Amino acid sequence: MRRVPAENLTCCPRCHGALADDAQDSPRCTACGASYGTLGGIPVLVADADLDAIDLRETGGHLPTYDCAGLGIPSVDAALARGDRILELGAGLDTHRAPNVVMTDAFVYGADHLDVVADAHALPFADASFDFVFSLAVFEHLHSPWIAAREIARVLRPGGSCYTLAAFLQPLHGYPDHYFNATESGLRRLFEDDFEVQEAGPSRCCPHRESLVPGLRMREMARELRDDATAPWRTRWRARRLDRALMTAGHQFLQLADEMTRRPVGHESWRQIAPAVEVVAVRRDGS
Ligand SMILES: [Zn+2]
Repeated sequence: MRRVPAENLTCCPRCHGALADDAQDSPRCTACGASYGTLGGIPVLVADADLDAIDLRETGGHLPTYDCAGLGIPSVDAALARGDRILELGAGLDTHRAPNVVMTDAFVYGADHLDVVADAHALPFADASFDFVFSLAVFEHLHSPWIAAREIARVLRPGGSCYTLAAFLQPLHGYPDHYFNATESGLRRLFEDDFEVQEAGPSRCCPHRESLVPGLRMREMARELRDDATAPWRTRWRARRLDRALMTAGHQFLQLADEMTRRPVGHESWRQIAPAVEVVAVRRDGS
């Protein structure tokens, strides 16, 4: 695989000017003079960054990790196999380590494996720096996802491609906030200006248990009522039944979900309630 030294690709996120290479601890733009901080040795190339808010090494440790190469995402697997110059956005919880993947996140989690802390709305990379850009469950946390789609186009070479997985039917979650869930058409539209969209649809990479989260919240509501000694006994009895029914329904759904979503009607129904949607898109020439 080709080595992609992240420090050779980074630039000032404000003006895309070169960063002074003599200032490892406080990167400085040679064009506009902006200076940047570091967290645990990782450059934070975000304008006006609040380093305390970005540092989740203590508080973010409970979040689940994953290996991007173990999720069975064909476009990611193909890019890894080709040795593409890859940019991952939201890579703070990815356990994969490969020299050709530049790992960025808006936050620093437990492991200090990120190459750069970056804001997807203003990426600190020069134009056409990458062959492939991907992100998993990042776009719902972006305040202006259309700007991030433009940034992905800018840092991709023409003909390069991107994979984006975003929340569709998922409840509120995550850092720093949760702004926009996407439909298939919405996610497709984000990329249509600068890309040829090859595929857009419900994602099989998001586990079925995500579909149970609304039921878990309903169970919390039911249990509060069940345990409220001031509520009428019939109401408390109904709340107990509701809690148990939702628990049973969740178990049964998980047992059957793979089988049901393989069938035509089941697939079409699942498509309307899938927890995540995904898009694969190729950057057009000259855009
Ligand atoms: Zn600058």
